[in-house]
Amino acid sequence: MNLPAAPVTQDVLTIPRKLPEGGKTNLIGLTREQLRAALIAAGTPERQAKMRLGQVWQWVYHWGVRDFGAMTNLAKDYRAFLDAHFTIEIPQVVNRQVSADGTRKYLVRIAGGHEVEVVYIPEENRGTLCISSQVGCTLTCSFCHTGTQKLVRNLTAGEIVGQVMLARDDLNEWPQPGAPKDETRLVSNVVLMGMGEPLYNFDAVRDAMKVVRDDEGIALGRRRITLSTSGVVPEIARCAEEIGCQLAVSFHATTDEVRDRLVPINKRWNIATLLGALRDYPRLSNSERITFEYVMLKDVNDSDADARRLVKLIAGIPAKINLIPFNEWPGSPYERSDWERIEAFADIIYKAGYASPIRTPRGEDIMAACGQLKSATERARKSRAEIAAEAGL
Ligand code: SAH
Ligand code: SF4
Repeated sequence: MNLPAAPVTQDVLTIPRKLPEGGKTNLIGLTREQLRAALIAAGTPERQAKMRLGQVWQWVYHWGVRDFGAMTNLAKDYRAFLDAHFTIEIPQVVNRQVSADGTRKYLVRIAGGHEVEVVYIPEENRGTLCISSQVGCTLTCSFCHTGTQKLVRNLTAGEIVGQVMLARDDLNEWPQPGAPKDETRLVSNVVLMGMGEPLYNFDAVRDAMKVVRDDEGIALGRRRITLSTSGVVPEIARCAEEIGCQLAVSFHATTDEVRDRLVPINKRWNIATLLGALRDYPRLSNSERITFEYVMLKDVNDSDADARRLVKLIAGIPAKINLIPFNEWPGSPYERSDWERIEAFADIIYKAGYASPIRTPRGEDIMAACGQLKSATERARKSRAEIAAEAGL
């Protein structure tokens, strides 16, 4: 990438050459405050820290530069100092598949040899990146492929931010110096709807979203980020206060009996408790509605009576209902509702005054659609019997 020749700052530094214990620090995913502290801890004089932070931040998150040597407005010995103490590392893409409909699925390797999947869904004049927050998921929703994976670990903030950066790399989306500012974004929206329950990895998700939103970097607006939760009630209010993004809730059923089977976290926080938390959601307004996700499972949750119950349950909550045709995966214990059924269901909700878009399955041919994600290499898999037992089938 050609970068602008910026003036070189000439400050003379006394640079401690001592390496931090345990090697270099990866600066990806550090919040501004954390990065400032890390620069100081490594030896940057405090009075320069603010300026250095601004410079490094812009190189990394605005220009997408990964090499300290290319940070041309920093004095050479400061670049060497950074290189001695820090790295700029994002997870590695080990496989990329492109669907017939243009959807891209990246298989991404993170520390420890684990893998997660990231999906890019292009649309006209915009595009949505679906990122993961955990390897696998501790929850075991019976219709979700990710929930069948045994191995789980939380991703770090750096691994979460890194997913956005690797997609921008692949799409060649970092700004070109000198080029007119392009307002059309390829990655215009980010959804935390990949693998994992984001509210069970709260701090890392919060820090990562701080970095992704920062105006002097990737600069994705608060309303362009949506977090989907299965219903971790105690963290829902915190999500509005500390992350400030849009909220989507995996609702999926209209009675506790059915929701217990589909989304087992319902046994801990049932429908009434969840709805109570959503009614109290601090940011709730007509312009910031909550999205209720509802997976359409044939003969399980797709009757007219379900649609009517759903409308009653959410009365008074500014909401939109996103109907997700079930995406099958090998061994999945459900079938997708018929198309006419989905439309009839949508119609009841629409007539009650709610937007009820049906999510078009994207990237099914490469197993990139909602709920199909799973690390191909995580061989330890729950058996069909285990899945059925957990689902109470
Ligand atoms: N763990 C979070 C976010 C990831 S799942 C959550 O559960 O909300 C993103 C969405 O895909 C959720 O609404 C989830 O219920 C849905 N989903 C999971 N498996 C699916 C499948 N096989 N078909 C369609 N949607 C599915
Ligand atoms: Fe986890 Fe969400 Fe899948 Fe449930 S639907 S198992 S919470 S990833």
